[in-house]
Amino acid sequence: MRAFDYHQAVGSEQAIERAMRREQARYLGGGTNLVDLMRETIEGPAMLIDVSNLARDIEESESGGLFIGAGVTNAELAADPRVRRQYPGLSRAILCGASAQIRNRATVAGNLLQRTRCAYFYDIGAHCNKREPGNGCDAQEGFHRYHAILGTSSSCLATHPSDMAVAMVALEARVHLRGRDGERVIALTELYREPGERPDLETVLTAEELIVAVELPPLPMAASSEYRKVRDRASYAFALLSVASMLELDGATIKQVRLALGGVGTRPWRAWKAEAALRGRPANAATFEAAIDAELAAARPQSDNAFKVQLARRVVISELNQRLAQARQGGEAS
Ligand code: SF4
Repeated sequence: MRAFDYHQAVGSEQAIERAMRREQARYLGGGTNLVDLMRETIEGPAMLIDVSNLARDIEESESGGLFIGAGVTNAELAADPRVRRQYPGLSRAILCGASAQIRNRATVAGNLLQRTRCAYFYDIGAHCNKREPGNGCDAQEGFHRYHAILGTSSSCLATHPSDMAVAMVALEARVHLRGRDGERVIALTELYREPGERPDLETVLTAEELIVAVELPPLPMAASSEYRKVRDRASYAFALLSVASMLELDGATIKQVRLALGGVGTRPWRAWKAEAALRGRPANAATFEAAIDAELAAARPQSDNAFKVQLARRVVISELNQRLAQARQGGEAS
C-alpha cells in the first residue's frame, strides 16, 4: 500500500474544501472497497478525507419520501422501519449484498460508488482499460461469465456490483451532490456513465464533488416492491442477475411499473424499454414477454455469459407474474 495522508472531516464544507486543495484526494466512507483497492495498489490516493461520520440520519421528506444521509450504513438503511414499510424491495436488496460485517460498515454513498469486481481489474498483471486507459481488456477474450451484456463497449464489459443501487434506480432515487459550485441534485440513473472508450470514468462526479444524501420520492406502489437475486451460491456472492420490480394495475391494464436489473449491465440498469412496453398494456404473458424482449434486444452477450439473456428473460417474466398476483390480491382486499 502506498503512503497517504488522513483527515477526519467535521463537516461536508470542510471535506470539500480539503478535496479542492489536495490533488488525488479521495473521500472515505466505510472503506470496504476503497481500502481493498489501495492494498492491491489499484488505487493510490495521496489523501483520504474521512466522511464516514457525516450525514448519518434518515429523515422523512416534506413530500412523504425519505432523505437518506450519505453516511448511513447499509445495515441501518435495511433495518429502518420506514424503509421496510415503504420500500421493502430496497431493504431486501441491501440484505442480499455482502456480509453482515460489511453491511455494518459500508455507507450508502460508498455502496453507490463501489467499483466493479471484474477479476482482471483486480489483477495488476492483467490488461484492463478501467485501471489504465488504453491498456486493453483481458476479459474480452478471457473468462466473462460474470460480465455485462447491456451497455458494454469494445473497451469494457464489467458489471456494476451494487444490489442497493439497482433497487434505488427502480425507486427513482435522486442523489444530492455538493461541490465547489454548491449543491446539485441528479437522478441516480444519471450518476453513472457507460464505459464507451473511457471505462475509467465511471460517474459524472467532479473531482471534489461529494454525495451528501440520497432522496427516495414517495411511490405508493413501492410498498409492494421486491428484489430477487440469482447467484452462484446462496450468500456472499455478486449477482449473475438481479431484478427490482413493482407494478400497479388499473383493472386488467398495467398502470405503472418500475423495473431495474443488476448483474447484466455496466451500470445499475433501469429497464426503460421494458417499462415503456408494459405501461398501458394488458397485464398478461404476451405483454411480459414482449417487454423483456424489447429490453434485451440490445444485449451483446459473450460466449461465457450468453446464458444471461435467457436467465434475464425467465426471471423478469417470473417476477412480473408475481407482482401481478400481488397487485390482484391487493385489489381484491381493498
Ligand atoms: Fe478491465 Fe473492464 Fe476489461 Fe474488466 S471488463 S478487464 S474492468 S476493462
